[in-house]
Amino acid sequence: MDLIPAPSPNFNPRTSPPDMILLHYTGMPTGEAALARLRDPGAKVSAHYLVEEDGRVFSLVAEERRAWHAGVSFWKGSTDINGHSIGVEVVNPGHEFGYRPFPGAQIDAVIELVADIRTRWQVPDERILGHSDVAPDRKEDPGELFPWRRLAEAGHGLWAEPAAAPGGALGEGQEGPGVFALQAGLTRLGYDCAPSGVFEPRTTTIVRAFQRHWRPSKVDGVADGETRARLIALLRLAT
Ligand SMILES: [Zn+2]
Repeated sequence: MDLIPAPSPNFNPRTSPPDMILLHYTGMPTGEAALARLRDPGAKVSAHYLVEEDGRVFSLVAEERRAWHAGVSFWKGSTDINGHSIGVEVVNPGHEFGYRPFPGAQIDAVIELVADIRTRWQVPDERILGHSDVAPDRKEDPGELFPWRRLAEAGHGLWAEPAAAPGGALGEGQEGPGVFALQAGLTRLGYDCAPSGVFEPRTTTIVRAFQRHWRPSKVDGVADGETRARLIALLRLAT
């Protein structure tokens, strides 16, 4: 694919090959400002790629280098997400500066880029994630408007819409085996959600992150039947 070189100095060596793709939004008023920041030696942040709203793709850091995009993060027991992942910044002002739908040309480019990355590295579908999945208490990107379903229909990432959604809602303050099972399921998928059987504020945060990715029409931190059914269906799909 056509890449526009825009090298960033903000990287260090990897110690293992990447097996995850982490998607972000830039969360700044313009794509130009985001690109400048990701290339600024003083900012100490970067990503491997930046995808503009018109579909242009900038290459900032070589895939075999460790770019600095995830920060403090966790997935499936690992906290070195930068070391494991390829980071893709998708231009969008984000929740702070006027969150808006991702244009079709931009998503087409993201899909082409993800497909291209996967020709080089072993990235399982369940390791195509958003920043909010690995840092749920700090991050909301790429957010509930990101078309994860469309990405999955193009062959990248997990998506599940089970027909039946039995069971009542679980929310903050509740406790018992249902809460324990929910936390265990979220942990098995990869979230940092050690089961306690008590639905603490931390669980709300992680349920909200799950919904932002896999139940985007209801991002409220309450695990209703549909949220829980989708989690169970995703666990069946994950290897
Ligand atoms: Zn991010």
